[in-house]
Amino acid sequence: MKRRGNLIILSGPSGVGKGTIRKALMAIPGVNLYYSVSLTTRSIRPGEVEGKDYYYVTREEFEKAIAEDNLLEYAEFVGNYYGTPRDKVEAKRDQGIDVLLEIEVNGTQKVIAKCPDAITVFIVPPSFEALESRIRGRSTECEEVIQRRLNKAKVEMEYAKDYKYVVVNDDVNEAAKKILEIIKSQDIA
Ligand code: 5GP
Repeated sequence: MKRRGNLIILSGPSGVGKGTIRKALMAIPGVNLYYSVSLTTRSIRPGEVEGKDYYYVTREEFEKAIAEDNLLEYAEFVGNYYGTPRDKVEAKRDQGIDVLLEIEVNGTQKVIAKCPDAITVFIVPPSFEALESRIRGRSTECEEVIQRRLNKAKVEMEYAKDYKYVVVNDDVNEAAKKILEIIKSQDIA
């Protein structure tokens, strides 16, 4: 029987560098992962691309997707909705392709409940100061939203214990390599 694709979840506090690690992981030669692009109601940031970083939708469109049960999981994060479209994830896994989700901690809990075999990886910063400077450095948002993201990050760090693997982001490429080793080790097991 054909092997079903793994479901790999990258999570961790906001600003820890999940997106950068995900891109580094997918750029490693020979890596064949399908990245599931999420729906979000937040505004597009400079440099982001519709359909590549997110599908940017209205609250009405998002709520319709919830009502029609089109989302594998979703969560509200500092005032906006974020969710994973279900169809593509299932189709790719059925084709034997490994699927990567990059989502926050509450959404991960929902996926773990539905797919206990998911490979869950929690990314931690080398220190909270490093996380704060990342959140401030990249932010195009106002101080109030930054504060909310910082407070949220402290709470999010508590979730590390629920994950199968914890990877420290002190070097993006090293962290990406560690995640690749984790994924490969699952296929041997
Ligand atoms: P950001 O606004 O910084 O792009 O994302 C905020 C948080 O939402 C990040 O932790 C990001 O990983 C998470 N996120 C992105 N897409 C999804 C999703 O589909 N579901 C959930 N639960 N979280 C998501």
